[in-house]
Amino acid sequence: MPPDGSQGETAVTTQIRLGDITIHRVVEQEAATFFAAFEFFPTLTKELWEENRDWLQPRYIDQAGKVVLCVQSFLVQTPHHNILIDSCVGNHKSRPHRPMWNMLDSDTYHKNLAATGIGVADIDYVMCTHLHVDHVGWNTRLDNGRWVPTFPKAKYLFADRELEFWTAKHKEDAAAHPWVTDSVLPIVEAKRAEVVKSTHALNDDVHLFPTPGHTIDHFSVQIGRTGRDAVITGDMIHSPLQARYPDIGMRVDYDAKQAGVTRRNLFGRLCDTPTLLCFAHFPSPSTGRITRWGDGFKVIEA
Ligand SMILES: [Zn+2]
Repeated sequence: MPPDGSQGETAVTTQIRLGDITIHRVVEQEAATFFAAFEFFPTLTKELWEENRDWLQPRYIDQAGKVVLCVQSFLVQTPHHNILIDSCVGNHKSRPHRPMWNMLDSDTYHKNLAATGIGVADIDYVMCTHLHVDHVGWNTRLDNGRWVPTFPKAKYLFADRELEFWTAKHKEDAAAHPWVTDSVLPIVEAKRAEVVKSTHALNDDVHLFPTPGHTIDHFSVQIGRTGRDAVITGDMIHSPLQARYPDIGMRVDYDAKQAGVTRRNLFGRLCDTPTLLCFAHFPSPSTGRITRWGDGFKVIEA
């Protein structure tokens, strides 16, 4: 893989159709292996690993024991709006603590966006499921030394308590939160932020619902009507391992226990229904449905 994490020239696109709604994937990094599984999932035991490695390896955890991750946006095209959900890492962003995302200079994201037929000027809304570094990056781009909104006419939706939390963290220690400096606050300053509750409904086809735990006010997005619907999960799950064992937390969870309850609730509700889930970080195709598996759940890729 080239150093920017891209896979050369190939545009990665997928179209998911739900009636008159189309969901496109816009991939920035594919099959990236940044984190060792035992570090990424601190409560994963050797016993559970041995019991499950047959189905996990090499697809979800590679032979070296690293979690296989995709970094992507989901672009929802409805008859009324183009909505980009999560905005990946972005270019030219100084991330001294994350070498794999430091000062990226790649055309992969824009190529993959262009392949959907929707341009930056066509995006009406950007929604950030939460305000972590890999979900806000393309909110802004560098223009003559200034961070300006990448999507010139978009409103950017942030959950109120999420924005409050990260703004306070940034106030305490700006250097430790560079993505807030360059990818969140410039949107607020440009008066492009629409601060909403994590229960906000955009219209009958698109509404947010709270999936807290990974961060304080994380939301997921429900798309379409019952029977022909999808859920954009954001980071309420990072690996099918956390469907099989909903209580396994991820290294930077705000409240790992609450994140486990969130997974049990959502997967219990969606179990054996036609609802398609679109997972931010699962390897391609990054989509699937939920069924029961013992005390937990299985993701049937679709
Ligand atoms: Zn993430």
